[in-house]
Amino acid sequence: MKTETLTDPATLPDASGHFGPYGGRYVPETLMTTLLDLEAAYREAKEDPQYQREVDWFLRHYAGRPTELYFAEQLTERLGGAKIYLKREDLLHTGAHKINNVIGQILLAKRLGKKRIIAETGAGQHGVATAAACAKFGLECVIYMGAVDMERQALNVFRMRLCGAEVRGVESGQKTLKDAVNEAMRDWVASSRNTHYILGSALGAHPFPMMVRDFHRVIGRETREQILELEGRLPDEMAACVGGGSNAIGFFHEFLGEPSVRLVGVEAGGRGISRGEHAARFEGGRMGVLQGCRTYILQNDDGQIELTHSVSAGLDYAAVGPEHAYYRDAGRIEYGYACDRDVLGAFRLLCETEGILPALESTHAIAYAARRVPEMGRDQILCLNLSGRGDKDVSQVAKMMEEAAE
Ligand SMILES: *Cc1c(COP(=O)(O)O)cnc(C)c1O
Repeated sequence: MKTETLTDPATLPDASGHFGPYGGRYVPETLMTTLLDLEAAYREAKEDPQYQREVDWFLRHYAGRPTELYFAEQLTERLGGAKIYLKREDLLHTGAHKINNVIGQILLAKRLGKKRIIAETGAGQHGVATAAACAKFGLECVIYMGAVDMERQALNVFRMRLCGAEVRGVESGQKTLKDAVNEAMRDWVASSRNTHYILGSALGAHPFPMMVRDFHRVIGRETREQILELEGRLPDEMAACVGGGSNAIGFFHEFLGEPSVRLVGVEAGGRGISRGEHAARFEGGRMGVLQGCRTYILQNDDGQIELTHSVSAGLDYAAVGPEHAYYRDAGRIEYGYACDRDVLGAFRLLCETEGILPALESTHAIAYAARRVPEMGRDQILCLNLSGRGDKDVSQVAKMMEEAAE
C-alpha cells in the first residue's frame, strides 16, 4: 500500500479543484463565475453551525438517518467466509443514498436565494430525490432526462411529476444520461442567476465532486461508529458499486487513512469487457475531459465517447468521478467489476437469504461479495454499501429471468 505517499484526504481537492491530475473546472467561460460563487458559498456554509444543524435535521427527520449497519447472517452463512455487514442506504426516503446530497445542496440553494432547481437524471433516482425535496421546500423543479431513459423508467417519471416537477425529455445524442447533463448545463448557462443545478454524483466541474462527496461522507462516519460498537474494531474490507462514484466515496472517505482497511470499488462489467458492452472505466478507459472534469473516460482513439452498457442504468456512464481516478492511481482504492449475469444471480441471492431486494446498481457489490467472501476467513469482516432498494428494478429483473430461463 502506497498510502504514505498520498496527500492527506482532508486536503483534497487542492484550491483549483484537482485530485492530482484529475478534476478541475472545464466549463464555458459563462459558467466560471457561477461555479466560483457556488464554491465560496459552500465553503462558508460548511463552517456555519446553523447550516450544519439544518442539514443534520433534514437527514434525520426527512431522509431517515442514521441507517442501519445490518449483520447479514444468512448471507454470511450461505457464502461461508467473512462476516458480511450491509450499510442500509436502501432504507432512506426515495429509495437510495441520493437524498443525502440533495438535502445538502437544496439547503445551499436556499442560502443563495435560488428559487429554481434543475437536475439531470439517468435511472430517475436522483430526479425523484430532487423532485421530492423541491416539493418539500416549495421550489420550482425541472428535471432533464434522456427520452430513452424516460421510456425505460416510466414509473420514476410519474413519481417526479406527482411531486410537481417538470420532466423535460432530451432527444439529442443517445437520449440518455450524458445528453441530459448537456441539456442541464445549457439551461444553467442561461439561468444561473435564479437557478441552482443539483448535480447527482461526485462528477462534473469543481466544486461538485468535492461537495457531493462531503454530503455523502455521513455514510462512512456512521459506518465507523456502528462497526466499532458492534465488533469493537474496523472492518478488514469494504466494497461499494461505482457509477459516478458518490455512494462509494462517501462510504470510503472516513477509512482512506486506515491502511488496514481494504477498499474496493465495483464497476459495471455489462455483457463483458469489450468495446461498447460495459461501463468499467478503469478496464477500458483513459484520461480525458468530459462534462467539466478530467478523469478516466471510455473513449475511442479519436476521443469520441464510446457507447456504454449496464443492466443498471445508474452505473451506465462513460466517466468516473475524478477522486476515484486519483485513489486508483495511488493504489489506495482497488477496482473490480461485475457482469450483468452475475448481478442477476446476486440479486436472487440477497432476496432468498435476507429478504432484501437491492437496486441493480448496489447488487454489483453483492456480486463482488459472492466471489470474494469464500476466500476470506470467518474471523474477517466485510462491509458492503447497499446504495439503494430494488423496487424500481423488479419488472426488469422479471424480464431478464424469463429470458435467462429460455
Ligand atoms: C445513482 C445510483 C448509483 C450510482 O451513483 P454513484 O454516484 O456511483 O453512487 C448507485 N446506486 C444507486 C441505488 C443509485 O441510485
